[in-house]
Amino acid sequence: MVISRHITGKIRSARYAVEAVLIPLYLFLPWLRWEGHPWIRLDIPARKFYLLGNIFTPQEGYFLHLFLITMGLSLFFFTTLIGRVWCGWACPQTVFTDLFDWIGRSVLGSKYGKKDAPFFGKVFVHFLWITVSLLGALAWISYFADPYEMISDVRASSFWITPPVWIYFTGFFTATLYADMAFVREQFCKYACPYARFQTVMMDADSVNITYDFKRGEPRRKAGVQEGDCTACNLCLVVCPTGIDIREGVNVGCIACGKCSDACTKTMGKEGKKTLIGYFSENQAKQPGTPIRWIRPRSIVYGTLLTCVLITAFVLLYERTPMYANILPDRIIQPMEVPGGVVRNFYNGNLLNLTFEKRTWNLRIVDSTLRTPVRILMGGTEIPSLQVEGNGSENFRVILEAGIQPEDRLIHTHKISLELQDVENEKNRMKKTVPFLIPQNGR
Ligand code: SF4
Ligand code: SF4
Repeated sequence: MVISRHITGKIRSARYAVEAVLIPLYLFLPWLRWEGHPWIRLDIPARKFYLLGNIFTPQEGYFLHLFLITMGLSLFFFTTLIGRVWCGWACPQTVFTDLFDWIGRSVLGSKYGKKDAPFFGKVFVHFLWITVSLLGALAWISYFADPYEMISDVRASSFWITPPVWIYFTGFFTATLYADMAFVREQFCKYACPYARFQTVMMDADSVNITYDFKRGEPRRKAGVQEGDCTACNLCLVVCPTGIDIREGVNVGCIACGKCSDACTKTMGKEGKKTLIGYFSENQAKQPGTPIRWIRPRSIVYGTLLTCVLITAFVLLYERTPMYANILPDRIIQPMEVPGGVVRNFYNGNLLNLTFEKRTWNLRIVDSTLRTPVRILMGGTEIPSLQVEGNGSENFRVILEAGIQPEDRLIHTHKISLELQDVENEKNRMKKTVPFLIPQNGR
């Protein structure tokens, strides 16, 4: 594991500012409530996902697909334009590395990362790292379990006798985060992160990325003889958290954190020159003064695809009906014909209310392949309706009844379309088509 030298500078300060927003966001987002409900939570046992006052179910898996496609295309689009900005500025691996480094340096000062650091100081650093890992793991778990309920669990007398399941996951994630931050760090970026492997195909000579100005820098200064601007101070090398030398060209280990740029700004500043390392494109390094080409074929293709997916997602979200219903033929009570030529079919249904308010849903027939009118028998009311508590579900039984014409008997299976409509919001409606069977024995 590399413990890189600390460096101050504009990029370092800007990254600290971004991290100062990201870390609290990550830690406290699960605590936020939207009208009393979680802003964000993936409730796996209940198979529900809460996001900004909406409830999604696995049946709406296409939103997950759209989300993943959006993430993938955003990655393509932004990497094409501004290189591995995600890695250096927002990836949890980088943000936590900076946090753990900050703790180490705050306790051990210049001895941080050195073999001769005081033993008890090192023990204290590891203690703090484990504590932060625990907090990070608890924050992660609270995206899946209600943090307020977790507090109640801890207060409950049964906590130590029968610990809740989330305790085991917390232990696992604490150990994982601690092991990662204390012993792995940049090795993960270099050897395990799949994104690092993609970068070379997503970037081209016009992508803005951390680049070394080899035209100005080379040949490097040797034994006091100045040729290019690079003084060969190697500061860019010792501050690099992944231990690479950016002067060797684009490297899969470079996370675009910009520490080498801050280092070179310092060195070059002493000579009254501009930094040799900065956020610019390879073409700009080859030909100084070349403008950045933001608009080019691959950025247009990725940008267009991303826009299309985002528009589709927004339209689907706008059109979305916050309920899920299932109506299936009863497996036990078979269709039957009662005296008077009336056929009855029996169904079982389930309605999930995906809002937080109690809602009433009316059921009506919108289409039928039968020649005669079909009646709905449900709950003994004139208008078949169903009340479901907010974020609740209700099972119900439906009987469809129709007097059968001789021509209808020629077809064994008819189709009937039912519509469930939200009484408070007419826009919310869902159609379900069910089979209607005519008993073949006539009775
Ligand atoms: S080469 Fe520079 S930008 Fe890349 S990881 Fe090292 S310090 Fe960060
Ligand atoms: S910090 Fe700048 S001057 Fe020093 S070795 Fe790196 S590129 Fe050369």
